Amino acid sequence: MTDPEVVIVGAGPAGLVLAWMLQRADVPYVLVDRQAREEVGTQPKAGIVEYRTVELLRREGFPLDFEVENRRVEFRTPTTRHLFDYADLTGDRPHYVFPQHRLVAELTTALLDEGAPLHFDCPVTDVDPDRPSVTAGGTTYVPRTLVGADGAGSVVARALGDRVEVLDRPLASRWLVVSARTAPLVGHTIYAIHPRGYAAHLRRGPQETRFYLEVPADVSGADLDPDDLRRDLAERLGEPGALDGVEISVDDLDLRTRITSPMQAGPTVLVGDAAHLITPAGGKGMNLAVADAVELAHGLVEAHRGDARRLDAYSATRLPVIAETQGFSDWFLRVLSAFSTDALAGTGSAGFVHALRDGWVRRLRDDPLLARWFAHAYAGVDPAPAKP
Ligand SMILES: Cc1cc2nc3c(=O)[nH]c(=O)nc-3n(C[C@H](O)[C@H](O)[C@H](O)COP(=O)(O)OP(=O)(O)OC[C@H]3O[C@@H](n4cnc5c(N)ncnc54)[C@H](O)[C@@H]3O)c2cc1C
Repeated sequence: MTDPEVVIVGAGPAGLVLAWMLQRADVPYVLVDRQAREEVGTQPKAGIVEYRTVELLRREGFPLDFEVENRRVEFRTPTTRHLFDYADLTGDRPHYVFPQHRLVAELTTALLDEGAPLHFDCPVTDVDPDRPSVTAGGTTYVPRTLVGADGAGSVVARALGDRVEVLDRPLASRWLVVSARTAPLVGHTIYAIHPRGYAAHLRRGPQETRFYLEVPADVSGADLDPDDLRRDLAERLGEPGALDGVEISVDDLDLRTRITSPMQAGPTVLVGDAAHLITPAGGKGMNLAVADAVELAHGLVEAHRGDARRLDAYSATRLPVIAETQGFSDWFLRVLSAFSTDALAGTGSAGFVHALRDGWVRRLRDDPLLARWFAHAYAGVDPAPAKP
């Protein structure tokens, strides 16, 4: 068997976007994923896609229909409510509601229908990042470029060892990810800035809604009585009783952030969560993964045609964007979270932390400059340059 030019490990958003673009450009590649075909993309993850990501995917001709807009977010505290029309402030550029599992399912189906080389049930068992070579599902491949698109626990990233620097920061906060079989309570996102901890309401589908509930890091969703959980969540959101009897499933999510620098070492390259992790505050992780993959795809296609400059510059191109996005998400997490501002965590200063959160919400309501900055950073819209 001839070795493919590129091996992609991972059929998440990053790996599939990359595969789809290599397929279009006739670059020989293989994609392997450890999960079975029917398991891929079943975990509840992202659901809101940035404006710039949708524009990027449309420009590249992806067969995905982004129709449902999310234009408004409501900040609620126990005493105030502020409905924030961010799409208005960005010149009519909203988010789109498009669950990650749908993106993964639709790209997988589109690729398999074309006979693309996607191999499921193929866990990676061995990686040599310098040769490079990778063994998955009992087959060893020796490609020209090995791409780690294998998510937060990436074996490809681990194999890079001290060829790269990993800046890893666990946070003192856990979010319960609550997937509910119920219609959204309102037609927009709600962020509840509550003294007991953050809670959120996010639209996913006509009968599907995502909630988050911030809890101390030693509390697990599995230990909570589901009725107490529903009650606490609804109360923090200012919708007492709204979730009584609603069918829910709950996962724990420990918050952490990470940046790997550089995102490539010789012939081995990282994309998406394999390279960087960001908390769900602001909904940025999948968007970064998609943008990494599009940039890398262009680099690989140009290298296939004999010019490796864009591929060689991939990490330098992406890292500044990733750092900026991490900065926004880090700030937003401080607004949302009662526990995870690391300097204050565990100091018993809960009242002080809540006063700061409350202050930011008022400032977002009252300060048009902050509101405009937030709207653009949140929706993923590049602000128009200032007039000379
Ligand atoms: C609860 C939650 C909510 C989120 N909400 C948002 C949001 O609203 N907006 C947003 O933009 N982002 C959000 N994110 C982040 C987003 O889900 C991730 O950033 C995104 O999944 C990254 O895509 P990826 O392709 O890099 O990795 P992944 O989606 O993790 O895909 C990695 C793939 O690699 C495979 N793999 C792993 N190890 C191996 C191995 N050893 N061998 C072979 N295959 C392997 C896995 O099976 C998987 O299919 C959220 C995340 C969570 C957890």
